[in-house]
Amino acid sequence: MDKKAMYKFSYGLFVLTSAFEGKDSGCIINTGIQVTSDPNRISIAVNKANFTRELVEKSGRFNLSILSESAGFEVFRHFGFQSGRDADKFAAYPDCRRSANGLYYITAGTNAYISATVEQSVDLGSHMLFIAIVDDMEVLSQDPSATYAYYQNEIKPKPVQQPSAGKTVWQCTVCGYIYEGEELPADFVCPLCKHPASDFEKKSI
Ligand code: FE
Repeated sequence: MDKKAMYKFSYGLFVLTSAFEGKDSGCIINTGIQVTSDPNRISIAVNKANFTRELVEKSGRFNLSILSESAGFEVFRHFGFQSGRDADKFAAYPDCRRSANGLYYITAGTNAYISATVEQSVDLGSHMLFIAIVDDMEVLSQDPSATYAYYQNEIKPKPVQQPSAGKTVWQCTVCGYIYEGEELPADFVCPLCKHPASDFEKKSI
């Protein structure tokens, strides 16, 4: 079995935003799709560790801002590499506006947003799958949507670390951070993007 077959999916990239009891937050996800068209329904899968997942569960509402190729790495760093538990991601974020449902959406580096209300939640262990009815949506620009492959090739900074020749290294597939060593500890967390050991790939230099 070649697990790299999973890399052939053409995922998009999104900022998922929600709010509950006056607390707003947002995170990056790559798992948004339309699932029916009459009525319009979408599904998203969100890692349970994400604070925004809690807000979606509690409020039953979210916005999905679709990231375009004009998105800079800063958007990914801001919404993907820090937790809403520790930081108020909207405290001084300039490129956002509230939609009719009262939630934020992202106005720069995006080409559309969709407002939705959760209809079903499915517990998948590591993730929650939310199936939601679309309440509203707007096109924001004609820039092409950013795929996960586009992020990997064009947006993610090239690694600044130079591993020594002949060494085995583990590279974070999300941000490019390099860990030198034969074995990566199972509980290792990427110091840059906070993703777990399962997001690292073994490489021989
Ligand atoms: Fe990382």
